Amino acid sequence: MARWGMVIDLFRCIGCHACTYACKVENRTRKGVFWTLVYDYEVGKYPNVIRSFLPTLCMHCENAPCEQVCPSGATYRRNDGIVAVDPNKCIGCEACVVTCPYNARFKNPKDNYFSQDVYPKDERSVLGQPGVVEKCNFCKDRIDWGMAHGLTPGMDWNANPACVNACPVNARTFGDLDDPNSEISSRLISNPSAEVMHRELGTRPSVYYISMSKPLSGKIKKG
Ligand code: SF4
Ligand code: SF4
Repeated sequence: MARWGMVIDLFRCIGCHACTYACKVENRTRKGVFWTLVYDYEVGKYPNVIRSFLPTLCMHCENAPCEQVCPSGATYRRNDGIVAVDPNKCIGCEACVVTCPYNARFKNPKDNYFSQDVYPKDERSVLGQPGVVEKCNFCKDRIDWGMAHGLTPGMDWNANPACVNACPVNARTFGDLDDPNSEISSRLISNPSAEVMHRELGTRPSVYYISMSKPLSGKIKKG
């Protein structure tokens, strides 16, 4: 059984938000709901200042606080490490929203960009239901479809999360953390300083960052 994870290289990210939009299109998330976001911030001191970017998403924590507080069993962790939400079980209490240390969860509002009618009938059932909480699920439907068709997530476009495919600079690498031959494993091996966000919380995220502690500092030109 694979254990899916992602590595995000902050040196590579150019803050284009292609991932943000690819996610919205793939998952048809509602107005104001973002399963992945890219924050930008300043590094350095004037006049040696650069902008740096921090893409975020659900960290698919091995020790997931959201799962522990969910009173209805809607949040669950699959055997492959993906933390998912069953919208039919979610009661919208938002306990998980306030508990997630990574701001990865959103309660679906009633508002959407378009009326339900503009979506083809056979796609309406996959639109996010208002009143339930959702979040990134590593595009689990693409992964499951790919696996069922003999593809390898992380290697095959049709089995990858949409954000990974959309990134023009390959800042996001997806794959099996338990496979020593996967690209994600080799990126972690060649970048031993790769870090998870808020390691001190003990949530054991499946999303790693390269250059998290010194974002782009090497590129600041000395005056
Ligand atoms: Fe849950 Fe938040 Fe961890 Fe995702 S990042 S598994 S929503 S606690
Ligand atoms: Fe960064 Fe890639 Fe997302 Fe663009 S698509 S913001 S480069 S992670």
